[in-house]
Amino acid sequence: MAVYRILEEHEPSLREIAKPVPRITPNVLKLLDNLAETMYDAGGVGLAAPQIGVPKRVFVADIGDELYEFINPVLISLSEEEESENEGCLSVPEKYGLVTRPHSVVLEGQNRLGETVTIQTEGYLARVLQHETDHLNGVLFTDIADAVYLRRDYKEGDDNEGWEIYQEDGIEDRL
Ligand code: ZN
Repeated sequence: MAVYRILEEHEPSLREIAKPVPRITPNVLKLLDNLAETMYDAGGVGLAAPQIGVPKRVFVADIGDELYEFINPVLISLSEEEESENEGCLSVPEKYGLVTRPHSVVLEGQNRLGETVTIQTEGYLARVLQHETDHLNGVLFTDIADAVYLRRDYKEGDDNEGWEIYQEDGIEDRL
């Protein structure tokens, strides 16, 4: 296992559409291990293969309960109900953003044994699964955020009031 450098916002590899994994080889298992180790090392809750420069449809997530590993994940259902929450990204360390997403999702993918697994979840984990799936399609949260804030202005316990708005995009349209 190894800790990899996490690519940052300006790096073009993050914008590629990741390729499906045709079969689960030892390299894919190694990729899963390295993603998890890199995510834990960085203190993140999710990490997608493109973030370490590997353009494959693979991601891991752990919001503190268990490690989720997905190969070829697909969001097969999104709720109509949406919610807006602040979001960050290991590839965008300087910024936070307010992102509106469906509240609950159903995601289907393969596990490391090649078995099809389906997860139905809501709230924070649903948000993380959508964020990571976006990475596989070259999308960063800053692309879809209602507003983006510079992290240097964030202090623990602050709400958005104290943050400097970096980018504001179509907020009026969404209200
Ligand atoms: Zn991210």
